[in-house]
Amino acid sequence: MKSQQIRQQFLDFFASKKHQIVPSSPMVLKNDPTLMFTNAGMVPFKEYFLGQKTAAEKRVADTQKCLRVSGKHNDLEEVGKDTYHHTMFEMLGNWSFGDYFKKEAISWAWELLTEVYKIDKDCLYVTVFEGAEEDGLGYDQEAYDYWKQFISEDRIINGNKKDNFWEMGAQGPCGPCSEIHVDIRSTEEKAKISGKSLVNNDHPQVVEIWNLVFMEFNRKADGSLEKLPAQHVDTGMGFERLCMVLQNKQSNYDTDVFTPLIREVEAITNSDYGKNEETDIAIRVIADHVRAVAFAIADGQLPSNTGAGYVIRRILRRAIRYGFTFLNTKEPFIYKLVNTLSKQMAEYFPELKAQKQLITNVIKEEENSFLRTLDQGLLLLDGIIKNTNGTEVSGKKAFELFDTYGFPIDLTALILSEKGMTLNEVDFNTELEKQKNRSRAASVVETDDWVVLYEDDDEEEFIGYDTLKAKVKITRYRKVSSKKEGDFYQLVFNMTPFYPEGGGQVGDKGYIEVPNGNVIYIVNTKKENNLIIHYAENLPKDPTQTFNVSVDEKQRFRTACNHSATHLLHQALREVLGTHVEQKGSAVHSKNLRFDFSHFAKLTVDELREVEDFVNARIDSKIPLKEFRNIPMQTALDKGAMALFGEKYGDTVRAIQFGQSVELCGGTHIQNTGDIWHFKITSESAIASGIRRIEAITGDATKDFYFENNRAFFEIKDILKNPANPLKSILDLQEENTTLKKQIETLLKDKAKNLKGDLINEVEKINGINFLAKKLDLDQNSIKDLAFEIGNQVENLFLLAGTEADGKAFLTCYISKNLVTEKGLNAGQVVRELGKLIQGGGGGQPFFATAGGKNPAGIKDALQKGKEYIL
Ligand code: ATP
Ligand code: MG
Repeated sequence: MKSQQIRQQFLDFFASKKHQIVPSSPMVLKNDPTLMFTNAGMVPFKEYFLGQKTAAEKRVADTQKCLRVSGKHNDLEEVGKDTYHHTMFEMLGNWSFGDYFKKEAISWAWELLTEVYKIDKDCLYVTVFEGAEEDGLGYDQEAYDYWKQFISEDRIINGNKKDNFWEMGAQGPCGPCSEIHVDIRSTEEKAKISGKSLVNNDHPQVVEIWNLVFMEFNRKADGSLEKLPAQHVDTGMGFERLCMVLQNKQSNYDTDVFTPLIREVEAITNSDYGKNEETDIAIRVIADHVRAVAFAIADGQLPSNTGAGYVIRRILRRAIRYGFTFLNTKEPFIYKLVNTLSKQMAEYFPELKAQKQLITNVIKEEENSFLRTLDQGLLLLDGIIKNTNGTEVSGKKAFELFDTYGFPIDLTALILSEKGMTLNEVDFNTELEKQKNRSRAASVVETDDWVVLYEDDDEEEFIGYDTLKAKVKITRYRKVSSKKEGDFYQLVFNMTPFYPEGGGQVGDKGYIEVPNGNVIYIVNTKKENNLIIHYAENLPKDPTQTFNVSVDEKQRFRTACNHSATHLLHQALREVLGTHVEQKGSAVHSKNLRFDFSHFAKLTVDELREVEDFVNARIDSKIPLKEFRNIPMQTALDKGAMALFGEKYGDTVRAIQFGQSVELCGGTHIQNTGDIWHFKITSESAIASGIRRIEAITGDATKDFYFENNRAFFEIKDILKNPANPLKSILDLQEENTTLKKQIETLLKDKAKNLKGDLINEVEKINGINFLAKKLDLDQNSIKDLAFEIGNQVENLFLLAGTEADGKAFLTCYISKNLVTEKGLNAGQVVRELGKLIQGGGGGQPFFATAGGKNPAGIKDALQKGKEYIL
């Protein structure tokens, strides 16, 4: 049976048991401060389990895109090495929100596996939670009793807390679970060793396929458990593992989910899967990781240097590095797999097809840049090796290579082992630990448990579309201590006018009125698991009272102007540039707005002008806001609203319309486009391959902008002595400047030429190295030319030059390439270290680097110290 069918049968089965089938939520989480990626099927439903929202449907089934590469669930290091863990995988799930419990969950799971999918009962084992004394939990007799109706008792295994008590994270909903394992070994193997002893023992052919979790507790900050308001069922079945079983394969990678990708990797890299373990691992890593990265980009998460983006970048780099080392790929190629992947998956996940071009471009660019890093790293590592006495390379040096240059440590280890050398892992780990502690210390946050003041059955209502002031009660609060921000309180109200950060729009600020005319400021508002949380500097003395709260009106108004303008900008871009423009991110602040979108070229001045004019024309037409709250998704789509991939939408949505612009949006807007007054683009740039960013301002901010620009213009005219045509005056000056510069350059070159001969005469031979350290009266560019010219003439050269200009100090270091590899000398390192003496820093390549600093007096010391590198 094809994987498409297997997925469909699961959904059909639970539809027949009265479950609502819902699409997968995004894999990348945008507005969840507690989690970066969906790591289990239950994540989109967290708030139902926590009792913070009531589910509209009590029975739901779906397949959910999951990613397990960070935090509590991290399988990254296993992926590729084994045959059944992936970074990105689909989790099939059926859900009961306070409806059915253990009985139905168990009997339906059994029915589906043995009657629909017809898995042989003799391959199956189940586990039951054995209890945990420290949590006061006993044996799950109930689950056991249901199971024994279906399966012989010697196939029911006791499971410990690690395997059979499911927890989302350190805090949050949890409960005992029952897993279903399948033994797919051959009959002979089964006869030799019983499958029972292999369950939960990391055997690749005796694997867990389905976990039935019975959610009934919440783990609190102090580690204790409290009963949840209702009992729920949360099940998760690994789709790729199920395919392995049903397609009679021994590995997930042999199912049709992966084979098209593997065939493609084989073809591109001219390799054979199934011949050699190392190659196989590399091929599996690549086939797996391209899925994770492609789905993440489709969800709007581009690779970057921080947060979730960094995690994605690391996954892709792991794939590139496996290709580089084991498949000998020195050119980008992973991007070529996107086409195959999209063909394979787009039927159920259309986002892959819609975003194919973008995903391809982004991956290609990342590959190019990381391959360059690898090249440079290899050169540096060569230097380190040459400079190592004995066979053990310093852990500190390896760490520097890893930390400063992004060179993978496992690659370092591998290259060393190929040369019969080792790495001082203890030292490396010490450095790594030190670095981790530094970043951990900066981000330690302790969150107390909620103190509940009023049990409110109703959800905390958001009334901020209609009012900025309200009389509220604090229903719960908790204290948060963070090293960065100090202590503060998080408050939840029975209803609130404060808009929580979301949909790109910042959270509202404002204040709470407390007795004696005092106020407590609310510095931010965010949403977490469907609770609107107000970040307050303090807690009122008697928090049980009723309080007047107000949103900062000015900030809200400016933010609303920027948000409405963002919608008009989106419309303008699609109108002016074409409908390939899609929103890729947006940030709406009170000061300005930022809009990222897909487009492949820099916008011309004319295009920018046209976009601005388009928006301003709509502002001038004073178009009134039409707001549609709680309308069915389809109605909104019929009105012309665009649904963005990577967004999680409820059953009903809110649509915001200004004339022809219709968007699904939960943000706050102005009543009439006329309120925006004026729109001005302040910058346009590229943020990734195929993604542009526009920053813009509206309202009062544009007045300031024009005023400042105007003032600068008058000042310039003043300096130029008020010429009739200031632009011409500046162009003339520029021209004159270019001519003068050229003349100076020629003069300096002549000077350098003469100098070259003198300097070559001054070179000293020390330990077989031609050494020269000297302060020169030349500009940096001439020094660079001079250094390379001398380098061409004098071999084994170590040249260090200092110069001074405008009260600043500069150092230049040139090292012949053969010295870099043979002696482990590194110009970048030299200038970084010596740069300290001139109170500055710098860097560059191993054979040429420069530094700048603010202490010319230190040049002398630096030049003197230079000699130490070769002594
Ligand atoms: P394992 O012990 O095999 O890592 P798990 O206990 O981490 O599994 P759960 O968190 O219970 O798994 O997830 C539910 C189901 O999702 C599992 O039964 C399995 O079929 C599947 N699954 C879990 N992790 C992965 C993964 N990294 N790749 C593919 N499927 C997975
Ligand atoms: Mg696991």
